[in-house]
Amino acid sequence: MIYAGSHISSSGGYAAMGRQIRKLGGSTFAFFTRNPRGGRAKPIKKEDVDAFLEMAAELSLGPIVAHAPYTMNVCGAREEVREFGRETMKDDLERLEYTPGNYYNFHPGCHVGQGTEEGIRLIAEALNGALSPEQHTTVLLETMAGKGSEIGGRFEELREILDRVELSDHVGVCLDTCHVWDGGYDIVSHLDQVLDEFDRIIGLDRLKALHINDSQNPLGSHKDRHARLGEGCIGREAFKRIVSHPALQGLPCILETPNDDAGWAEEIRFLREVSGSI
Ligand code: FE
Ligand code: FE
Ligand code: ZN
Repeated sequence: MIYAGSHISSSGGYAAMGRQIRKLGGSTFAFFTRNPRGGRAKPIKKEDVDAFLEMAAELSLGPIVAHAPYTMNVCGAREEVREFGRETMKDDLERLEYTPGNYYNFHPGCHVGQGTEEGIRLIAEALNGALSPEQHTTVLLETMAGKGSEIGGRFEELREILDRVELSDHVGVCLDTCHVWDGGYDIVSHLDQVLDEFDRIIGLDRLKALHINDSQNPLGSHKDRHARLGEGCIGREAFKRIVSHPALQGLPCILETPNDDAGWAEEIRFLREVSGSI
């Protein structure tokens, strides 16, 4: 059994997200903590969160996966870029305390010419500044496609970040199927081997969520262009094997496919069906 859902809009607040995921038939979802291009977050209303928490209990939702703005780059070359990233992460984590026990996923960042080692050092430093022993949110590093100077395209890079984080219990990994495929991990023909490698380098106990996306591009292309399930190079048969794999049970599986509501509802139904999560 897995939890299935899609990325949905957070512009109407928490209760509106609960209604949207009920409409789509999901049991989890993801949302941007603020405008994906960055900027200030809307104030959280306690009544809105309470209405959502009630709905979440009613629907037996699994853990939800907040997504940091994709422009956040805690290992940018300019201090003001890094500072904005650190402030955003800190503020997001404070806000997520309204909904304890969930996940905060972020793209590790782009080193923009500073080199992978320096990027990894800056990412770990940002996490060490943002995490607190009292927090109730687990922060997830997303596996990346290795596009440009992106960090996190290799499992080893995520391992190095994890090794440098002091409050290690508060950090995990979110595996994006499009990204690992584009990064060169063959989850179509060698899923077991890829998961073994993940386990050996990172540890499967660190894997807390999946982003379920097909890819417009072939294995190892380092492109990061998502496709709808079955309309890309990964294909529905592979997604069947992924969501029914014994090592991946119990995880929230989030669709970030280019879709409309009907398309997401269908893909959520597909994921629930093939994983036996009805
Ligand atoms: Fe992402
Ligand atoms: Fe993703
Ligand atoms: Zn992506």
